[in-house]
Amino acid sequence: MRLAWGQEQEAFREDLIAFLDEHAPSEALAWESASGTGSDDLRPAWAQAWQATLFDYGWMVPSYPPDLGGRNATPVQTLVYLEEMARRGIPRSLHFTSYGIAAPSLLEFGNDHQKALAPAAIRGDAVWCIGMSEPNAGSDLASLRTRAELDGEDFVVNGQKVWTSYAMVSDWCMCFVRTNVDVPKHRGISALLVDMRTPGIEVKPLRQITGSSEFAEVFFTDARVPAINLLGDLDDGWRITAGSLAHERAGIWIEGVARAERALDQLVSIAQATGASSDPAFRRNLAEVAERTSSLRTLGYKGCAGYSAGSGAPEHSYMKMATSELWQDLMELGMKFQGPYGAVVDPERAGTGHQWPLQYLAGFAATLAGGTSEIQRDVIARRVLGLPRANR
Ligand SMILES: Cc1cc2nc3c(=O)[nH]c(=O)nc-3n(C[C@H](O)[C@H](O)[C@H](O)COP(=O)(O)OP(=O)(O)OC[C@H]3O[C@@H](n4cnc5c(N)ncnc54)[C@H](O)[C@@H]3O)c2cc1C
Repeated sequence: MRLAWGQEQEAFREDLIAFLDEHAPSEALAWESASGTGSDDLRPAWAQAWQATLFDYGWMVPSYPPDLGGRNATPVQTLVYLEEMARRGIPRSLHFTSYGIAAPSLLEFGNDHQKALAPAAIRGDAVWCIGMSEPNAGSDLASLRTRAELDGEDFVVNGQKVWTSYAMVSDWCMCFVRTNVDVPKHRGISALLVDMRTPGIEVKPLRQITGSSEFAEVFFTDARVPAINLLGDLDDGWRITAGSLAHERAGIWIEGVARAERALDQLVSIAQATGASSDPAFRRNLAEVAERTSSLRTLGYKGCAGYSAGSGAPEHSYMKMATSELWQDLMELGMKFQGPYGAVVDPERAGTGHQWPLQYLAGFAATLAGGTSEIQRDVIARRVLGLPRANR
């Protein structure tokens, strides 16, 4: 059996390739190898210009119509798009939160005025952060305590968010707040659109183990947010917490698999160059990660096929957890292959080898962000395997 795209999909890919060849900036082509290595420029001019170019040519979110940076692409064309971008390791934007979470939520739950904020979020003209997690509300998001109380025409916001990605360069925050303390906790949450220049907001960057600072703590002290900035209905924000690019959900796994494939190729080259390829233990390790990588690609396509046919795709609950854990194992193998240099993150001493320990450390983020691996396993146990809730 040979799996291949049809002529129509290949023609779509050719259009994309021609566009990328002509417009993709060198920084986007080199971005993957530079990411996670300590740059503090979270809103570089090249990335903003690139995102605007993608939008203007209808390649930013292809499934959207042209006025939202797309070209009304079908789900299969979207998959081809994601596959090609991932194959080349080209980012669309450095702020998934803006085009991937805030914009779809504005479009789905916003009034006309709020919907009008979406194009700038997708084009990168405005950066949005997402204020969900708090010091005591991460996996258990419904326990959030940042309080918003109505006072005349405004909500007055007090409390703290944490791990807020890109807060330090954001124009807006889609912030989840408690507006009702007298009802079960899921039912007393609302979503507010908060201008980050509002007096009473303080952003304190957090430095990660890799040296970069991509997220921050955000403190609210009597910050006044106009009541018209309520997104959706009062106390009905829980529905909005699930918002993200549903159109692309079927293909979101591709980036993780493509990255793993590239790392695997590099591992094979290193093993050959260092002679590790004749070591039986290393060969077994390599074979095991190679088998996991190709299984994940196949599983991802299987999920896409189910999704396009209108049925559920339980495979996709597994993909985020499996690709992020595979990445850690690949990076750990890379460190082992480098011998003693495998633990050196200083590029002057370890040369390009310093990427392996750095990317290993950076890889922990993916097993936490957007739901930890433990929580994903719990979801799979309940929703895919039909097991009862665990005793707590
Ligand atoms: C790179 C990165 C970017 C992020 N960006 C944002 C952002 O922009 N906005 C935002 O709001 N948040 C963001 N987060 C926060 C992220 O959503 C939380 O880290 C995540 O939800 C986990 O919450 P927590 O850190 O409070 O850990 P906790 O929920 O306190 O969990 C601690 C540990 O206990 C485990 N655990 C908790 N509950 C259970 C359970 N019921 N069963 C089994 N194990 C359990 C967890 O798996 C974890 O290992 C980001 C996180 C990362 C790493």
